[in-house]
Amino acid sequence: MNDSDPAATDSASSAAAPRLRSALDTFPPYIPGKPPRKVEGLESFKLSSNENFLPPLPAVLDAMVAHATNPALYPDDAALALRQGLADRLGVGLDQLVVTTGASELLVALTQITSDVTTEAIYPWPSFEMYPQTTGLVGSTRHEVPLTPEGRHDLDAMAAAITDRTSLIILCSPNNPTGPVLRDDEVRAFLDKVPSHVLVALDEAYWEFATAPGRADGLSLVRDYPNLVLVRTFSKAHGLAGLRVGYAVAHPPVIEGLLKAVIPFGVTDLSQAAALESLSHWDEVLDRAARIAQSRDAFAAALREQGCDVPEAQANYVWLPLGGKSSAFEDACVEQAVAVRNLGAGVRISIGEDEALARVLEIAERFRVEHFAE
Ligand SMILES: *Cc1c(COP(=O)(O)O)cnc(C)c1O
Repeated sequence: MNDSDPAATDSASSAAAPRLRSALDTFPPYIPGKPPRKVEGLESFKLSSNENFLPPLPAVLDAMVAHATNPALYPDDAALALRQGLADRLGVGLDQLVVTTGASELLVALTQITSDVTTEAIYPWPSFEMYPQTTGLVGSTRHEVPLTPEGRHDLDAMAAAITDRTSLIILCSPNNPTGPVLRDDEVRAFLDKVPSHVLVALDEAYWEFATAPGRADGLSLVRDYPNLVLVRTFSKAHGLAGLRVGYAVAHPPVIEGLLKAVIPFGVTDLSQAAALESLSHWDEVLDRAARIAQSRDAFAAALREQGCDVPEAQANYVWLPLGGKSSAFEDACVEQAVAVRNLGAGVRISIGEDEALARVLEIAERFRVEHFAE
């Protein structure tokens, strides 16, 4: 029993609590974005989870209905049809793909095949909250390398953090929550410094929204670096977060390792069918992502015009590095029936309906007057 844990003395039932691994004390639980509060007379908007706000593609809904058949049967464990669709679309081999229950399962599996208490992981910070969770859970030593003041990866510092115990490095482009993309030349220079036995995961959950010239293109990188694995998802641009489908692209030895770590039958038949249907509407998916990117650029520009310090925004969200004022800004949004994501160092606002963004601009304007008056 862990006497130093104050929670252990809080309730009578904890006397019988089983002993859990001490690694659990080294990282916080994942906290999902909150739903919006209901406010009389105002439509509510959830801008706290980077979900796609556009309505689902009708053909994808039809595919889901068509596959709502016999739940007694297990799905295709190999997700062959979906992997074939991805292979054709991306120009990679079937043996370079694995499909998982969201990219989240992939991040867990990547950690499990590389990391344990004897190894070290390196990732940027702030970045996606699952990185401390998955690497912490296996007990590896974590090097959280601070972003630059512009919210970008400090790749020199990340390279300097590599030791002979490093087993996993995670890059995130566009970075969640700050927004900037990695550039192709900087990633190549970085990967050239990483020993070839160290696995590097490039999390491209939002790649479809990125527009910056010179941005890193995971598919061309993975061709050149056998120790690179791409982490991708149908949750964001495809708008299928509720169906839980993600995938990895990597060289066959990495895929073979991942296949031993993923949960059998994780992705349901219905989810596989919906993702495959969405893939066949690729151009429409990318068009919609481009529309969201346009809204994002206009929203970021309007915030900058107000005087807000907004880093390069390349995904479907914008980051306001408000530091100690983050909670006050979140509260101001809650009062106006808008849920945003307060991450302590700042507030992340997902791109949503025009009306939602216009309301946030009004809130931000008032907030500046109240909190940043000269
Ligand atoms: C949303 C997200 C994911 C994974 O989401 P899934 O829904 O599990 O596919 C992975 N990485 C980043 C950076 C994300 O924001």
